[in-house]
Amino acid sequence: AYLPLDIEQPAARIQRILAAAQPRAVVVNETTRTLLEGAEVASVDVSALFALPHPGSSATRTPQDATDPRSAIPLPTVQPADPAYVIYTSGSTGEPKGVVVSHRAIVNRLLWMREHYGFGPDERFLQKTAYTFDVSVWELFLPMLCGGTLVVAEPDVHKDPQALAALIRRERVDVVHFVPSMLAAFLDEPGSEGLRMQAVFCSGEALPAQMRDRFHARIDSALHNLYGPTEAAVDVSYWAASRDDRSDPVPIGFPVWNTGLYILDECLRPVAPGVTGTLYLGGRQLADGYVGRPDLAEARFITHPGLDPDHPEPVRLYDTGDLARWRADGAVEYRGRIDHQVKLRGQRIELGEIEAAFETHP
Ligand code: AMP
Repeated sequence: AYLPLDIEQPAARIQRILAAAQPRAVVVNETTRTLLEGAEVASVDVSALFALPHPGSSATRTPQDATDPRSAIPLPTVQPADPAYVIYTSGSTGEPKGVVVSHRAIVNRLLWMREHYGFGPDERFLQKTAYTFDVSVWELFLPMLCGGTLVVAEPDVHKDPQALAALIRRERVDVVHFVPSMLAAFLDEPGSEGLRMQAVFCSGEALPAQMRDRFHARIDSALHNLYGPTEAAVDVSYWAASRDDRSDPVPIGFPVWNTGLYILDECLRPVAPGVTGTLYLGGRQLADGYVGRPDLAEARFITHPGLDPDHPEPVRLYDTGDLARWRADGAVEYRGRIDHQVKLRGQRIELGEIEAAFETHP
């Protein structure tokens, strides 16, 4: 399993995550090595391995002097139930929590996306999302599963709409992701006018209906609204926010493969269409829990005694904390949060984490 770290975060926070997650080893290069000073963790330095010749230079190079991570860390054979990645997200107790997602869960999500949108070897995917955000998981692995091309953006291009528009044109990118607040900035950028792509995916925040319409007035591409928490392998529902879609609000839509969306009342009973309740998720994409914190998992992953009155059997569900309601056509609409979780440019923040930091400060 891999655990991505954001090297722009304070070293102290990185070290707290390492202490909690206890990785077998940390992969570093000459720049990031310094972030581990004082931390009790094994590291594998790959600087030499990646010091490859500039493209176009004729020199070939064998990384003889490099530590090969494969020989440094013997890797076990992977089974579907084994963890694939651990992604840290804000925790209301003041400590970030590490969500553990299995291969079975993320492979379901990736294969669904490949088949549902018919992606194949002709597509060019842009990787621009920070690795610490789970959207990066499909950006990185979907091209490999469909034989497409992976275009890797320079660091920080995702924050620069002008550079991003130029990159999409230059590299003839077909598939790209935006959190809606970044899509808003992108639509304001003169360079985005008239771009042609195959599919733009939004997720992480509500997609306003008016942004959908602005998008279609400027950009020639399909637009998709995906929804899901880190705790359920990136996304669990989809909606085609097409040019002629007049929905307001834009729904989060229908479940992906092997996934159940349940809108329940306070007694965990399903609500009728049009009635707002809490959105619970079930199925293959649910995370295993949080690293080293079974108490937190117990609070959010519940066992429901049985949702089908004719065949009641216990099901494991994740309590998203999102409010939702059914439309008459079976699409789900997002209606806000039940708690104090907020999003800042797509970044999930528990206000409780900030409160806890204030309370412990002298
Ligand atoms: P994260 O774990 O960072 O992916 O954040 C998950 C949360 O982001 C969800 O529980 C929702 O509150 C919000 N979210 C994600 N996608 C959408 C969407 N398409 N529409 C509205 N809210 C969303």
